[in-house]
Amino acid sequence: MNGTIPLPALVTWLDAFRTAVTEQRAYLTELDSAIGDADHGANMARGMAAVMDKLETSTPPTADELFKSVGMTLVTSVGGASGPLYGTFFLRMGMSAGAVAEFDGAALAAALRAGLDGIVARGKAEAGDKTMFDALAPALDAFDAALADGSSIPAAAAAAADAAEAGRDATEPLVARKGRASYLGERSAGHLDPGSASTALLMRTLADVLGSS
Ligand code: ADP
Ligand code: MG
Repeated sequence: MNGTIPLPALVTWLDAFRTAVTEQRAYLTELDSAIGDADHGANMARGMAAVMDKLETSTPPTADELFKSVGMTLVTSVGGASGPLYGTFFLRMGMSAGAVAEFDGAALAAALRAGLDGIVARGKAEAGDKTMFDALAPALDAFDAALADGSSIPAAAAAAADAAEAGRDATEPLVARKGRASYLGERSAGHLDPGSASTALLMRTLADVLGSS
């Protein structure tokens, strides 16, 4: 897959993310038990199960409706901070995408960037606050840079996933400045941020799905 990404591939991505957060549920919860309230794995698994249940009933024909459905389901089915944040990410992706049935690289990059902007608008996170921003922002920078260098969409997505994982790992020594983990102050250092770990899964599943088509 080089030139464009059809809507079914985006649904496959969402399904792969559902599978990843379900398989990694215990790991995400373990991370959240160290610096939060031990519900991140349950939140993500429940939210993505609800997303796929809804999509399996009826799959919208265009990207704007697809991502609006995903975002609304996450906002309404996940109680934690991550529900509104991931929900806003997908809602903004949909608004950026418009009524299209496929993405080219530039449109996907723009939609992901709009999603990140939505997370920032909602949660006010900045670089180094020890949140999902610290995985997503470098991932999207790597995606843009790879496309600008002439990489294929799958290669750019792989670079983005690598950057997301590096960003996740770089949250370990940070002191949290946003979310529940910030209540721990200095004691939040020495642990990976759970939301950055789920975001790394989001970007890795995108790379896997685009790379295998
Ligand atoms: P809760 O903190 O309500 O229990 P989760 O455990 O599901 O919700 O999600 C926690 C994750 O949400 C954190 O690890 C962090 O990555 C992310 N997060 C929390 N607050 C913010 C924020 N203001 N901006 C961006 N991400 C945030
Ligand atoms: Mg939590």
